[in-house]
Amino acid sequence: MVNHQTIGDRAAHLSPEDLAALRENLHEQRLFRQEQLRQIAAAPRAEDLLRRRSAAQAEVHVKVAASARMVLADVEAALRRIAEGRYGTCHLCRRPVERDRLMIVPQARYCARCQQVREAGR
Ligand SMILES: [Zn+2]
Repeated sequence: MVNHQTIGDRAAHLSPEDLAALRENLHEQRLFRQEQLRQIAAAPRAEDLLRRRSAAQAEVHVKVAASARMVLADVEAALRRIAEGRYGTCHLCRRPVERDRLMIVPQARYCARCQQVREAGR
């Protein structure tokens, strides 16, 4: 369980304007992904694609949907963190996630260093 003693340093490196811009960006991403998933759901089902088109195409379809769902989950988690005042802190080292990094990837959970370590560990 996370303790709540760290309220003082939450997102201290982000101004209210930064947070507003990031939240706006996340809302747009959420809409975009929801729309993408709706379109995929409305498209012919994967089994039909398998029959009528190539299996490779159906696989791409499934992968796009899976990645859209993953990004959507990340975006929603980030919006939740903003609402709860926990946004902008690295989940691993608990240091602030770089402002520049958040401006590019607002749903980032980790600081650039921890992200690199995680990717190297794969
Ligand atoms: Zn970190």
